[in-house]
Amino acid sequence: MKITEVIEKNRPTFSLEFFPPKTQAETAQLYQTLTEIKTLHPGFISVTYGAGGSTKDGTLEIVKHAKREIGLESMAHLTCVGHSKNQIKSILDELVESGIENVIALRGDPPKGETRFIPNPDGFAHANELTAFIRESSYPLCVAVAGYPEGHIESPDKDTDWSYLKRKVRSGGDLIITQLFFDNDYFYTFENKMREKGVDVPIIPGILPITNYHQILRITPICGATIPEKLMNDLERIQDDHEAVHKYGVAHAIEQCVDLLSHGVPGIHFYTLNKSRATREIITKLRAEFT
Ligand code: FAD
Repeated sequence: MKITEVIEKNRPTFSLEFFPPKTQAETAQLYQTLTEIKTLHPGFISVTYGAGGSTKDGTLEIVKHAKREIGLESMAHLTCVGHSKNQIKSILDELVESGIENVIALRGDPPKGETRFIPNPDGFAHANELTAFIRESSYPLCVAVAGYPEGHIESPDKDTDWSYLKRKVRSGGDLIITQLFFDNDYFYTFENKMREKGVDVPIIPGILPITNYHQILRITPICGATIPEKLMNDLERIQDDHEAVHKYGVAHAIEQCVDLLSHGVPGIHFYTLNKSRATREIITKLRAEFT
């Protein structure tokens, strides 16, 4: 089922993002996690795509397995990094032939060691071009695109980024899934501005439950997410007590989600970093309040 239909039928829709593991044993563990997660009735799961297609096979294998063997609706991430149009076409062909109905069209980050994104000469420079290609080629796919409530890190300012996002949606994006953020005011300002620009597709906020202080310090500068001062101070105090950080992170994420769902968002997309305990606890709590 297409995510746009999933959102229509199951409000709120909870979705979880995973990355393809490196080993067979970790993949087996991920399949076990996905089987357990099914009991929480997520709307869909998504599987990320590594730089330069480094996880191409893993991404395809996991979305196919999740959909066919576990019965979870699945979305494949796809980036333009290093790929020619023909390579992208063969990936899209394989997705569609495998019965996958959802993809998130991304440009991708520059590969490690490079500061600037350099497109493949026969490929795409921006996600809006990939989105348009999927549409023009008439693939029967629901296409999500990425949005940035704090603006994309390469963008000179938020409005420039959000104008490009409007173009990306006009190129064929069916819904927006956002980058993670820790202060809902960023999301509300972003959502208002997109609506003012005439963008009326569903916008699903992305939430990362904090479970590790040091990890969060590494991740946030890469995604351009601000850690609010109070959150940072609180985490600093408990940084070496993993269970305390976990509890604090879950409580903070629940507070964010309750506020977002009360505001009327169609769902929440959870960044699990392949550690699903926190997300399971959060969804269980939210289900009790919102269904
Ligand atoms: P674009 O929409 O192309 O935007 C990139 C930059 O260019 C922005 O600054 C934008 O303002 C600007 N821009 C956009 N269009 C144009 C245009 N036509 N002309 C000029 N400038 C333009 N990365 C991965 O490698 N793998 C993943 O699986 C992955 N999944 C993600 C999932 C989500 C929900 C999100 C929010 C991000 C994800 N990313 C992933 C990260 C993403 O690839 C990076 O943030 C990347 O730097 C930008 O990708 P994009 O699709 O937003 O690019």
